[in-house]
Amino acid sequence: MSFSLDRFFRPTGSRFRVFAQAPLLADFREPQIIWVSSPRGSLGPGPSDARMYALDPVGKEPYGDADLPPFRGRRRLPALPDQNGHFDHLGPDDPAFRAAHVFGIVRRVLDVWEVYLGGPLPWHFSISHPRLELIPHVAWNNAHFGWGFLECGEAADDAGTKRPFAMNFDVLAHETGHGIVFSLVGMPTPETLTTAYRAFHEAASDLVAMLAVLHFDSFIDHVLRVTEGDLYVENELCRIGELSQTRQIRSVSNALKMSDIAGLDAPPLEIDGKTVHKLGLPFTGAVFDMLVEFYLDRLVAMRLIAADLAETLRRAAEQSEGALAAVDDRPLREAHAREPRRFAAALADARDMVGLRLARTLHRLTPHHLDFETVAATLLAVDRELSGSTHQALITACLEWREIRPGERAMACGSRMR
Ligand SMILES: [Zn+2]
Repeated sequence: MSFSLDRFFRPTGSRFRVFAQAPLLADFREPQIIWVSSPRGSLGPGPSDARMYALDPVGKEPYGDADLPPFRGRRRLPALPDQNGHFDHLGPDDPAFRAAHVFGIVRRVLDVWEVYLGGPLPWHFSISHPRLELIPHVAWNNAHFGWGFLECGEAADDAGTKRPFAMNFDVLAHETGHGIVFSLVGMPTPETLTTAYRAFHEAASDLVAMLAVLHFDSFIDHVLRVTEGDLYVENELCRIGELSQTRQIRSVSNALKMSDIAGLDAPPLEIDGKTVHKLGLPFTGAVFDMLVEFYLDRLVAMRLIAADLAETLRRAAEQSEGALAAVDDRPLREAHAREPRRFAAALADARDMVGLRLARTLHRLTPHHLDFETVAATLLAVDRELSGSTHQALITACLEWREIRPGERAMACGSRMR
């Protein structure tokens, strides 16, 4: 049986009702109940606890450089716990739902990464702000994580309807990812900030979101059902922050190599946010590929597919979409139809293999003069500690395909860490 946060926290935790994906997707129209780590009865109105609090302001502008929490203006009534300390009695029609929704999802994402790390994540801003302020709505077409706050605006979908980011798991998880990266990697000085640091921040935050959503059984089941078990088929796992059935903010599954992107040498403060996101995509894609490869490995180890089919799929994926489409993956799809639960367990295993390695890599990196060569070497060093040489070739191949190579400076650093 694979690891489940809901099972883990059910004896002592608190319940929330959340959307695992944007509710505009047919399979996710209804919010589902999750268990988070907050000890039962420990959450106050807001919700709030010693680490964070949600509040729903009336007519607030987004925070800017000179403007920091706490928010002191007018606000709506807070979400209140039920008599047992849970918040799942609140549904989407309740005015307090969005504050509870943001809190529940941020708590769930933190739970995922605290389990991988084996302990709580301190806020990087705790010297001035002991708690994170969660703002479910400001009049703005974006969302951001800053010094002591996470706040959400909204975006129009294809039909022109405004969709609040407070209801979008991927957006909330991505913004929480920024908080996790700041906490684990740290903040560079103006002299040691690199464009690669900014790009890595975006990539890691997308990966935080991708791995966090895989902690919903409903999401794993959905992805495996629509792909019939073949993760090389385009699916929701590849997309972050969906705004419609076919449009999303960016794709974690992509074919970009380092030579396809320009700008990593540009001064870090002269580059706009959109370009920064793009510069992170080759690394995001490399880690996505690792997830799929670990999954195939697990399917082979569990005798669900033959090793030569996994190898054929791998080789085709390295070549082109056409080569991939030409592979006869019927044995895989038939095996999935026979044993969907074991396929779900294989994907959960792959998720945790990547999550553990990424969490330890984040913990070990330093923010100064960061480059992708150092990230690659650190990831390989972490993996070597966890499983010796078993997965080194697989990880190296995923990085190499993206033209991300562990540098000599970084390798020396990696070997000292062993
Ligand atoms: Zn971001």
